[in-house]
Amino acid sequence: MKFALVNGQKTEAFKGGRGFCPSCSALLIAKCGEFKTHHWAHKGNRICDQWWENETEWHRAWKRHFPKEWQEVVQFDEKGEKHIADVKTETGLVLEFQHSYLNPEERRSRNTFYPKIAWVVDGTRRTKDKSRFIKVIQEGSTLPLKNIRISYTDFPEESRILKEWVNCDMPVFFDFGEQERLWFLIPKSTMDRAYVVRIARDYFIDICVNGSLEEVTGNITLLIYEYQNYVRKRNQMALNRRANQMLAKKRTKYRRRRF
Ligand SMILES: [Zn+2]
Repeated sequence: MKFALVNGQKTEAFKGGRGFCPSCSALLIAKCGEFKTHHWAHKGNRICDQWWENETEWHRAWKRHFPKEWQEVVQFDEKGEKHIADVKTETGLVLEFQHSYLNPEERRSRNTFYPKIAWVVDGTRRTKDKSRFIKVIQEGSTLPLKNIRISYTDFPEESRILKEWVNCDMPVFFDFGEQERLWFLIPKSTMDRAYVVRIARDYFIDICVNGSLEEVTGNITLLIYEYQNYVRKRNQMALNRRANQMLAKKRTKYRRRRF
């Protein structure tokens, strides 16, 4: 963990430091070695939050974009279960920074535990993820919408990272280490079709800090719903037209026979 309570204050690890866990109140020992990111660890091998993932520099870099009070926030549900959210914004949105592989079942339980959640996924952990992802998206298509470029692919299984996350019901942002952008995987995505949209990294951080990310992701998701409805209606109308034409043909034939 990045923070322990030292004299009741959220404090980062320092050499020889001792503090208390904000979640379970157990003793924490500061680990300030040369190799791993400086952190606090429970004494012994006590597991405090089974959802907790050992932190990398990638986690820390993300957390640093947010005020200290928003980082590592202990969250309870009505049954008294508790977990430490990586970041919780002013609007109550929880941001989870996911570096390692997460099985779908565990992801579902987190999506249920947190009323509002968005995932930021480390796309740099495996070397091929970025190039595969970009290739699959480039080979896909874009929706004919005016003000926003939403790309889609009907082959999400060809990109491992897409395949892993495509069935997540909450917003997912892939971070491939690109300075200027992240990729938003829209929750309406399925194995049949995955929708993604580029989002500027600075903008993402800005709306998390000063606005409402959930409003932005909600509006984009709505565009997909509307588009799908439009396509459904259009197809239905085409079918009806075709049926009417067939009917008219039959009638003409019948009339011809009569006379
Ligand atoms: Zn603890």
